[in-house]
Amino acid sequence: MIHDAIAPEKLQAGIRVRIMTTIVTRFAPSPTGFLHLGHAYSAIIAWETAQKANGRFLLRLEDIDPERCRQDFAAAIEEDLAWLGLVWEKPVRRQSAHMADYRAALRRLDAKGVLYPCFCSRKDIEMAAHAPHDLNEGTPANLYPGTCRSLDRARSQEQIAAGRPYVLRLDTAKAQRLCGPLSFHDAAAGTIAIHPGRLGDVVLARRDIPASYHLCVTLDDHLQGVTLVTRGDDLLPATHIHRLLQALLDLSTPDYRHHPLLKGAEGRRLSKRDGAWSLRALRADGKTPRDIRAMAGLQAE
Ligand code: GLU
Repeated sequence: MIHDAIAPEKLQAGIRVRIMTTIVTRFAPSPTGFLHLGHAYSAIIAWETAQKANGRFLLRLEDIDPERCRQDFAAAIEEDLAWLGLVWEKPVRRQSAHMADYRAALRRLDAKGVLYPCFCSRKDIEMAAHAPHDLNEGTPANLYPGTCRSLDRARSQEQIAAGRPYVLRLDTAKAQRLCGPLSFHDAAAGTIAIHPGRLGDVVLARRDIPASYHLCVTLDDHLQGVTLVTRGDDLLPATHIHRLLQALLDLSTPDYRHHPLLKGAEGRRLSKRDGAWSLRALRADGKTPRDIRAMAGLQAE
């Protein structure tokens, strides 16, 4: 693919040069269930974008949580995608095999002083936010109120040594002060200036899992040379955090395309728990890959 870009040395002269880059897209599901129609939509968009640009398409399995991820789901993901006709590069990156990378990134963040241990339980956070109805972190009602942000470091270390459970959170405001104003490019919205505070001080690691979705996805997109992240618009708020992590860790910033989520009956977003929309169920029902494309609102190839 050819991008118009301005080479830094040409900036003053105002000369626009054309730089050749290969587009690299990816589909990055977590093997916590079977893929559904919404996943098919997302995967096909990423795959086709790469195809049309003569680029590369990657599959990554985001399997850092051993309690929720299963090998049979991982195998089913590859089988379903192959059935849809998608082809991806091998080997597939499985995040669980790269914990050392995430630990190293955490150490770099820690050295910048932007992490702090948090000992709050979900219940503490819920009570502090006075919003017991929704425990999905990041919703405005239960944004983490920063209780442990200013805890004395020596006391925190004592508590950790004593075995008290904790998570590591990103001091988002401090990180933003360090990095200054940042933005990213979204295919639909153009340049978006980041406001990472919307998700509060997100968790970047747990004692049992020294990694998190935000950390792994950001590092992996860089390590795998991804140039275009296509994913559902439910993850748009997360991209603000990812852009901040890119700046903190000196990582490349891909372009983004946040697509609308497919909705099921009654306008509800599809979930892995909605078995009827799973590719397995649709296939057992006699649907073909072509039917899946049509159901997802994608044009026939
Ligand atoms: N693993 C995430 C999920 O299954 C998606 C990550 C991404 O596309 O950035 O929801």
